[in-house]
Amino acid sequence: MSAAELPAFMAGHQKMRFLRELSEGQRRTEYNNLSPELLERQDELDAMNTDDSGYDTDDVVVAADDEKADGITSWMPEVPGSVPDVEFHRPVLDLDFDAALVPSSTEGHWHLYLDALMPWDDYAKLLTVMAEVGILEQGYVDASLARGYSSARLPGVMRPAPRKVRPGRRADVAGNLLEERCNGCKLEAHQLPEYAAIALDEDYGSSLEAMRREEGTYNRENGHFWCNSCYIKAGMPLGVAL
Ligand SMILES: [Zn+2]
Repeated sequence: MSAAELPAFMAGHQKMRFLRELSEGQRRTEYNNLSPELLERQDELDAMNTDDSGYDTDDVVVAADDEKADGITSWMPEVPGSVPDVEFHRPVLDLDFDAALVPSSTEGHWHLYLDALMPWDDYAKLLTVMAEVGILEQGYVDASLARGYSSARLPGVMRPAPRKVRPGRRADVAGNLLEERCNGCKLEAHQLPEYAAIALDEDYGSSLEAMRREEGTYNRENGHFWCNSCYIKAGMPLGVAL
């Protein structure tokens, strides 16, 4: 793949050259072409390099000549408006197994499938970290962790428009705002991932709306309900939460 076939968002990433294919003289030229900043960075990399990892540890990052580059790095040296002293990267990952990227029904959204079987504990760890660094939405990960799996719509299945949300707090007949909280843990619906999971599955606009519509213990009079674990701890009381 030539640089022209790379995704457009990789423009501006630091290119590199595999030094092992170069003669001693060509190597010296590459080093001479580096800017002082890149040379300093390269010296650090060279000091770290070990030869037993099996990877190309004798690479050099070259700034001088993109034409001669034969590799691209995750490193984005010039990010407009970026924080000083913070280096920015876009993930460039070398996978040794099959992967598929399938467009979702929303433009610019994708489903990534990896042919990498792993125990749930490892997968939960991966999801958690991916939310932490902003690759996945926290709500998607919370819902997946609550359900015990992640999921995507099948290719070609359109996402329905979110159901109508009744915004804001509800009031009782006397006009007092309802405290819509779990009777046990006192958490609100948006703090309980099980309702994020329902919102995602059933296309409610929010966890609160999902709780109001789908939670069997929801008391419409006073806003009380039982979350799953509190409901079990409370001995699975019949009817709505008091
Ligand atoms: Zn609870």
